Amino acid sequence: MHPDTIIKELLTFFSNTDILIVSAMLNPFFSLSRSYRRLLLYPLISVFTAVSLVVATPQVSQGIPLFELLLRGIQIIQMSNISDNQEVQLGKQINQQLVRQEIRLNRNQQVNRYINQIGQRLAEVSERPDIPYTFQVVEDSSVNAFATMGGFVYMNTGLLTEADNEAEVASVMAHEIAHIVGRHAIKQMKEAAIANGLTAAAGLDQNVAIQLGVDLALRRPNSRQHELEADKLGLENLVRAGYAPYGMVSFMEKLLQTGRSVPEFLSTHPATPQRINALERAIDPQAAFVGDGLDEIAYRNQIRPLLRR
Ligand SMILES: [Zn+2]
Repeated sequence: MHPDTIIKELLTFFSNTDILIVSAMLNPFFSLSRSYRRLLLYPLISVFTAVSLVVATPQVSQGIPLFELLLRGIQIIQMSNISDNQEVQLGKQINQQLVRQEIRLNRNQQVNRYINQIGQRLAEVSERPDIPYTFQVVEDSSVNAFATMGGFVYMNTGLLTEADNEAEVASVMAHEIAHIVGRHAIKQMKEAAIANGLTAAAGLDQNVAIQLGVDLALRRPNSRQHELEADKLGLENLVRAGYAPYGMVSFMEKLLQTGRSVPEFLSTHPATPQRINALERAIDPQAAFVGDGLDEIAYRNQIRPLLRR
């Protein structure tokens, strides 16, 4: 294939707007002599194919720096236009980094199989069933759960031993899945990158994006709006999966009473009592206890390996 044809093929990866921008950036490339073009083509192709994620920040129109970055082999992330596949790939890299440096996974087979089974049951009937979901148990006694983009959900052992039944655990998982359904981590990353001046002329360096993803998952609470949305979508998902909706309220109330440190899914914005009120309004009292997951003894048996320690 002719080099120019290959470049044109590569450009079809981008949306219409992006094609204009990227074409402008490639003008210097096309003005080079043929032999130079051939020399530059291969690094360019490898970068373009490796760049699973493409950039369209306001600064992107300063085209030349992207060209330079491409030649230096830096992978650029474009957050505005991220496909499901690209999101899953970035999520995998964030997960690898989390597991390598930040969290310790619990590998008990029985517990992991059980948590995965609850998670898949919820994910199947979520509003985003077409990406893979990975549910992992984190060896950590604090009552917490969190998620990152691309279908990764983390449940702390401390949360699993604090919960009284499967409906409560499922309610937290449904809330975390809802953050993924709402693409909240991507929106958060985009905002954080812009706020911190991390978007270079060309976009977001992939390694910076991964580090930012780790930081967002562990240390930065979601906005009030995202929390309310996750509660709402989560509750709907919980009910669709056949769980008793009361699980969501009872778990929040219990945490409020124990006055523990505030976990992600109960982050301070908005205030928890307000969220409980919103949930109680959303739940039909007649149906609150209708559904699976209220058997406390069955739940204790499933997570017994965590209790024996
Ligand atoms: Zn949340």
